Amino acid sequence: MASKFQAPRGTFDVLPEAARARARLERAAAEIFARAGYETIATPAFEDTALFERGVGQSTDIVRKEMFTFEDKGGRSLTLRPEGTASICRAYLEHGMHKLAQPVKLSYLGPFFRHERPQAGRYRQFHQLGAECIGSDSPLADAEVIMLLSDLLSELGVPGVELRLGSLGSLEARRAYLEDLKAHLHAHEGELSKDVRERIDINPLRAFDADDEGTQGVMASAPTIVERLEGEDAEHFQEVRSLLDAAGISYAVDSTLVRGLDYYTRTIFSFVCDQLGAQSEVGGGGRYDGLIEQLGGAPTPAVGFAAGIERILLALDEAVPAAGRDAFLAVADPGQRRRAMALVVELRHAGISAEVDLAERSLKGQLKHADRIGARQVLILEADGSAQLRDMETGEQRTADTGKLLEEMTGGEP
Ligand code: AMP
Repeated sequence: MASKFQAPRGTFDVLPEAARARARLERAAAEIFARAGYETIATPAFEDTALFERGVGQSTDIVRKEMFTFEDKGGRSLTLRPEGTASICRAYLEHGMHKLAQPVKLSYLGPFFRHERPQAGRYRQFHQLGAECIGSDSPLADAEVIMLLSDLLSELGVPGVELRLGSLGSLEARRAYLEDLKAHLHAHEGELSKDVRERIDINPLRAFDADDEGTQGVMASAPTIVERLEGEDAEHFQEVRSLLDAAGISYAVDSTLVRGLDYYTRTIFSFVCDQLGAQSEVGGGGRYDGLIEQLGGAPTPAVGFAAGIERILLALDEAVPAAGRDAFLAVADPGQRRRAMALVVELRHAGISAEVDLAERSLKGQLKHADRIGARQVLILEADGSAQLRDMETGEQRTADTGKLLEEMTGGEP
């Protein structure tokens, strides 16, 4: 019976079949994070709106158009988190994490919310996993977070992945560059799309992302920051590249790479997957040396990434089969149901995945059900207290020693 309710636009249900592939991804990520010493952090699903306005940037699409903002009963403006980094920096400051050994290495996973036009790979509630390395300006930290995401994508077997790498320079270099970029855009205003033209002074970098021909033509001759990096910025970028080279991670330097958040400085990167069509980025990130100061803390360099769980799953497009059960407990006589219930709990405590009939079926119905749920063996409790053990793969059945059921069902290794 179809319900008149449906999941809200841009959201989706994760049904058990899809949940298995998701769980495999989450386990792989948790292991990679743990092995590299990135401890888990969880922050609230909503924050003060001002945190994102200030942290993500007033000129970004996220803040201008995509936030789910609401007022609580006390009149405070709150926003469902559109991304994770601003919240984690807020938590770093709120809990005085600068007193911990630096850099502080954190990982997270959870739902995020953006009011975007839904399409394949783009949702209004989606999930990201990510890592942040806070408190080091060394290129080693940049290389480490890039390697973490690279490792995850290759361990999962995401096909057709390419890493694009760029640098935005330090905040000062970026500022000087942006003036030149704005001048270039103003000189060609007539050829730009309306959207880009309106944002020349607030977010000129986004022009690199435009998909209209006019703007693309203008951008082909625009100055890029990568070609003008100098001094410590150039050295930093070169060192990140050398570290990736030494680790055997291939990448393409992309001088037109930009990201949708304002806070990036120096290294930026993006992993794209050629199987994904329009929404091809599976994950990306970069350095955000100015963000913590922007949020009221002391200058604190940091770098991190976020990856889209749905995008990775779309790229993998794989069905993970159900695990099946080790055992199903059937009763030949209803008088055995209590015993079956007690026994199934004992089996579970011994680490065996076991189920019992919860629908009061006939023995035939129970065996059919055991087959449907993929039980490997069925223990049939007879009315006289004896038990039969049936191997569902071979169909073989024998009398079980009820004094040693655990051993019987684990092949002698309880
Ligand atoms: P961002 O926080 O914008 O840097 O995005 C990081 C990653 O999150 C992207 O590479 C995508 O994989 C994923 N992502 C961002 N926005 C969405 C969305 N609306 N729906 C699904 N995935 C998204």
